[in-house]
Amino acid sequence: MARKVLRRLVTAVVEAVFPVKCLACGCFFHLEEDTIGHDFAIHSYSGKYDNRRPVSFVYHLMRMYLCAACASEIAVVKPPFCLACGLVFKSKEGDNRLCGDCITSPKQFRVARAPVIYDQAFMNLIHCFKYNGKIQLAKPLGMLMLVTFLQSWDADDIDLVIPVPLYEGRLKQRGFNQAFLLIQNWKKIAVELNRDLTRLHIEKHVLVRTRATPPQTGLGRKERMANIKNAISVYESEKIAGKRILLVDDVYTTGAPVNECARMLLSKGAAWVDVLTVARAMQNW
Ligand SMILES: [Zn+2]
Ligand SMILES: [Zn+2]
Repeated sequence: MARKVLRRLVTAVVEAVFPVKCLACGCFFHLEEDTIGHDFAIHSYSGKYDNRRPVSFVYHLMRMYLCAACASEIAVVKPPFCLACGLVFKSKEGDNRLCGDCITSPKQFRVARAPVIYDQAFMNLIHCFKYNGKIQLAKPLGMLMLVTFLQSWDADDIDLVIPVPLYEGRLKQRGFNQAFLLIQNWKKIAVELNRDLTRLHIEKHVLVRTRATPPQTGLGRKERMANIKNAISVYESEKIAGKRILLVDDVYTTGAPVNECARMLLSKGAAWVDVLTVARAMQNW
């Protein structure tokens, strides 16, 4: 009891001296002890990911970095969604099935999955992460991705995890590849989750973006597809022959970049390519 009081006192003093600032909106907030944060999320995770759990899991995990208002705005992907590209159906009726787009133009990758929806709120958060120097967000977002990976895949079905590459010029300008940042601590987090991912290999340099693609914003769907075509090369094809690959990126919008990466990897002999992003747009833009 005395220890608990002391701990609360220490927390209160620390908070008073170093108040926690929301990484999304910049407001100051209080960490509610024992109910939010990384450790709580670890405890609430038990082996397989429970479908009834994601809301509180995502909320509790993000609350260490975001105020209650910002954390509660994050929308979790819920079925039904497209079996292939992961598009979330607006109507909540029916089971998971193929969407119209995947029926008319099948994708190169097998499946694409994401834990949360790429809406305005999440767009702002990703913007803070990529452009406003809030790279601490890589930790909770990477953990969300890892939990989704453990939920949606048999980890033994994947040999290589490959981040979607940035063009070198853009990499220099930004200083990091956001897709790699999201997965670089996976093995460490897996240990905390009591999962063994030692045989999973993260391969950072296999895919290369050979030319700058103009920003996708403002382009129609066809232009986005053409924009990325032939912009990706496989650097060391011997590393991917026969391998089962998980491609990772921050967001899935048109799917054009991951589809082009998958096409290149398959052309060099990859056994299959799957896709995991942290967020999924509500339409195939
Ligand atoms: Zn906030
Ligand atoms: Zn689809």
